[in-house]
Amino acid sequence: AYRKGGYHAVRIGDPFNGGRYIAQRKLGWGNFSTVWLAYDTKSSKFVALKIQKSAAEFAEAALHEIQVLSAIANGNPSDSKCVIRLIDQFKHSGPNGQHLCMVLEFLGDSLLRLIKHNRYKGLPLNKVRELCKSILMGLDYLHRELGIIHTDLKPENVLLVSTIDPSKDPEKSGLTPILERPEGNPNGGVVSNAIEKKLKRRARKAVAKIALRRDSMGGIKVREKKSLDGIDLRCKVVDFGNACWADQQLAEEIQTREYRAPEVILGAGYSFSVDMWSFACMAFELATGEMMFAPKCGQGFSEDEDHLARMMEFLGKMPRKVAITGSRSKEYFDRHGDLKRIRRLKFWSLDRVLVEKCNFNESDAREFTDFLSPLLDFAPDKRPTAEQSLQHPWLEIKSPNPSEEEKEDFGKLAVGMTNLQFEVGR
Ligand code: ADP
Ligand code: MG
Repeated sequence: AYRKGGYHAVRIGDPFNGGRYIAQRKLGWGNFSTVWLAYDTKSSKFVALKIQKSAAEFAEAALHEIQVLSAIANGNPSDSKCVIRLIDQFKHSGPNGQHLCMVLEFLGDSLLRLIKHNRYKGLPLNKVRELCKSILMGLDYLHRELGIIHTDLKPENVLLVSTIDPSKDPEKSGLTPILERPEGNPNGGVVSNAIEKKLKRRARKAVAKIALRRDSMGGIKVREKKSLDGIDLRCKVVDFGNACWADQQLAEEIQTREYRAPEVILGAGYSFSVDMWSFACMAFELATGEMMFAPKCGQGFSEDEDHLARMMEFLGKMPRKVAITGSRSKEYFDRHGDLKRIRRLKFWSLDRVLVEKCNFNESDAREFTDFLSPLLDFAPDKRPTAEQSLQHPWLEIKSPNPSEEEKEDFGKLAVGMTNLQFEVGR
């Protein structure tokens, strides 16, 4: 995809925007872009540089994303809203065309990586509470103050926040920015393999040090195996590539499959409450390590119908009134409000799933279900808003002393976290 209209090839040490930003190493990529760790020589801070593919349709998508990110930044001067901050934007011309670039604050690993590296066992509930609070604050800001629907909320799109700033305290973090292109790499030419390898190793070490020291792990050395106790886990909502203003909806089919709300499957229109549905699916996944709904197609039924069936098995039968209101309702439901092709459902309530499948104790299961199930109401209007959810008693931190098991958990989690950064730069 490094061709006309495609990605822009970047080398370590490449300058951007008249030399203000210097590429350090690759952080990740999406369908539309590559994302680089860069050093901002103006603010002496590390930033994330998102470089869009150059073709017209990608440029258009990036312009929309910049519009949304600008609105988000304008309403958030104190940076208290748990959403990613846009720092700058510019155009960059390369051999594959002109690329729109976004400069974003540099954040840590995604919640998906956190879940993976905790070996899909689920995080300690107090940590889930902290993460949920941040996400809900982000959603409340987007929904109530800006009128924006995220439409693609999932663990991949929530990143951990670091409060230790390596650029303010470079000595402590041991991170030295790479400030210029190495010799033998003029104007993006080819760097010798040896130099490139050396630079990559250096950048990798530097990023690993950030991971070791940042707040997602309380800045503690991982080998000490400390518990998560007393460490504020904070996170921010990112990836506004699909976000829209509620009164200017662009797509009918939104959200990633597993986090998709029933009204979207049924083609019944949507609003802010689709994000609340995804949020609940994500909270379940954080607490259990497993996806709440992982539908598959089978003989004689589609992925959509299986998805609807699974929802009803966990949450009870969909009220007929809700089931028959969508433009696609007739594909799945008969006139009685029963699924056409999946006739026998195995009903299983949420708190039983938590106890029997996920080893929750009875009271944890009851309390968590009390928080989650209103968010998973089939009727979108009945779901609590982010503002209302923030008031729920489940979010209050319980039992400040972590159990031995929780301490053990964090030991593993932290070790996982150090590995993370080594995997990122493929
Ligand atoms: P796309 O819209 O192309 O999917 P994303 O915004 O999701 O791009 O970014 C792609 C990946 O880059 C993310 O999954 C993440 O790993 C990394 N990334 C994006 N933004 C940041 C950031 N601000 N800080 C650190 N890593 C980031
Ligand atoms: Mg993405």
